[in-house]
Amino acid sequence: MAKKSYLMTPGPTPVPEDIRNEMAKPIIHHRTKEYQTIFKDATEGLKKIFKTKGDLFTFTSSGTGAMEASIVNVLSPGDKIIVVRGGKFGERFGDIAKAYGVNTVNIDVEWGSAPSPVIIKETLKANPDVKGVYTTLCETSTATVFDIKTIGEVVRATNALFVVDTISGLGADDFLNDEWGVDIAICGSQKGLMIPPGLAFCSVSEKAWRAVETSKLPKFYFNFKKYKKAYIDTDTPFTSAITLVIGLKKAVETINSKGVDNVIAEHQSQARAFREAVKAIGLSVFSKSPSSAVTGVNTPEGMDADALIKLLKTEYGVTFAGGQENLKGKVFRCAHMGGIDKEHTLESIKALEEALLKMGWKCKSCAGFDAAKKIIG
Ligand SMILES: *Cc1c(COP(=O)(O)O)cnc(C)c1O
Repeated sequence: MAKKSYLMTPGPTPVPEDIRNEMAKPIIHHRTKEYQTIFKDATEGLKKIFKTKGDLFTFTSSGTGAMEASIVNVLSPGDKIIVVRGGKFGERFGDIAKAYGVNTVNIDVEWGSAPSPVIIKETLKANPDVKGVYTTLCETSTATVFDIKTIGEVVRATNALFVVDTISGLGADDFLNDEWGVDIAICGSQKGLMIPPGLAFCSVSEKAWRAVETSKLPKFYFNFKKYKKAYIDTDTPFTSAITLVIGLKKAVETINSKGVDNVIAEHQSQARAFREAVKAIGLSVFSKSPSSAVTGVNTPEGMDADALIKLLKTEYGVTFAGGQENLKGKVFRCAHMGGIDKEHTLESIKALEEALLKMGWKCKSCAGFDAAKKIIG
């Protein structure tokens, strides 16, 4: 029998067997009653996970497509936005804005820290003409969760839109789209929603719709108005990624049958167990505001993170992710979101301890496993 393998990367995440089986069924046509029902159930179910009563659109693209949609649908050339840059994905908003001739006021946050809502408030005060604040729920590159609730209170009092990339955080970190005053929330399929890559989502508030009416940036495929019009007939303007939407419906049902808050609580305890294990082994967590979607761990002095990741993969079948950009070689990351369960978490901790010992790290064997077991055993 093939050795079990554990995909612990912050996207893609493991796709549970019952969801894979749904997607393996013969394809159906999308302009049918049968498909419309599936698409409607998937969308309405997903709204419960976002905690929104507003519009929610599904695009065929990776998550970045929805990030682009959140810019082209509400802004015009020469507009100014605030971009919170505390890692690779925050920076991406700035890159997309630049590509479309949108000016940015950057709030640079030390990697591994969460932005202070006070700084956002002051930046908004100093720039009353900004059209939006673009930020991230979980900055996956640094495994850091941001205080979206408090930032939302600040942005809500202004004319600016509040745009949040929840691609990795949704379903693992708390998120309340409507209550927290989020105007556009962005998500993708391959992280907390536990289906393969290929779908992206945007929630759209009433305040965002007013900005859509005046937006002059060029757009075609990602035009919100096209998706809104099509959804009246529970349809999509272009061919749906039928198979993925079938998977989404199943995934959303799985999450909602447990209750999204219970699912988040499960991931929170896995993340806590992993962090406790890391400390018991004698390592340290990178982030000052650790997310429950993913944990970044500082690699011990003198140890090569890439060699550790390779050993975990080849000898133990456990796939961790490395650090990105300036964290490359210094940090490794283990996800807790989506289909990642207790067993995955405990097995990865066991493998991590053995691999570290093999690489000469002097930890008390099994201290991490025992610490985690106390929380999720
Ligand atoms: C994964 C991720 C993205 C990028 O999504 P793609 O699907 O690769 O386009 C963007 N933002 C965050 C926070 C992510 O975790």
